[in-house]
Amino acid sequence: MDLKQYITIVPDWPKPGIKFKDITTLMDNGEAYKYATDQIVEYARERQIDVVVGPEARGFIIGCPVAYAMGVGFAPVRKEGKLPRETIKMQYGLEYGKDVLTIHKDAIKPGQRVLITDDLLATGGTIEATIKLVEELGGVVAGIAFLIELSYLDGRNKLNDYDILTLMTY
Ligand code: 5GP
Repeated sequence: MDLKQYITIVPDWPKPGIKFKDITTLMDNGEAYKYATDQIVEYARERQIDVVVGPEARGFIIGCPVAYAMGVGFAPVRKEGKLPRETIKMQYGLEYGKDVLTIHKDAIKPGQRVLITDDLLATGGTIEATIKLVEELGGVVAGIAFLIELSYLDGRNKLNDYDILTLMTY
């Protein structure tokens, strides 16, 4: 299946000059969403994943159906102040300024094999911070899966030591 036909490119959103890749037109098509999810499930099975981790909010959309299909858990990574119990946190750079991602301290047990999911790899900052959170808890990042990679932003350079699946490249 050619998944790109389900992605809508929105010019000048959220800012002039950005060509935003809108995945909602893939998600709201049952066949396309299932097909994309199935590709990631197959990848996760090969890597014997124990738990799936994804950053809010679109990382949940990709990761939760994969966790359900595999019968493993899903641990959310969220912006600071959103998770109710004890967390660890990691700062990461944005285009302008910085932000913080957090995960519950007991979300991953040492040695667990983790699949990280997100909708899109751009500069790699979000995923780099997510990897650090997983590793600080003793998790093994056994794979990272995205629907989309923006290859011109070179996010892969930050992820040289990791196994990556991307279903579409722009
Ligand atoms: P990075 O941290 O790799 O620079 O940015 C990736 C994050 O920004 C992802 O969590 C993703 O959801 C969001 N993002 C950036 N650009 C786009 C885009 O064009 N489309 C979508 N759907 N998400 C984007």
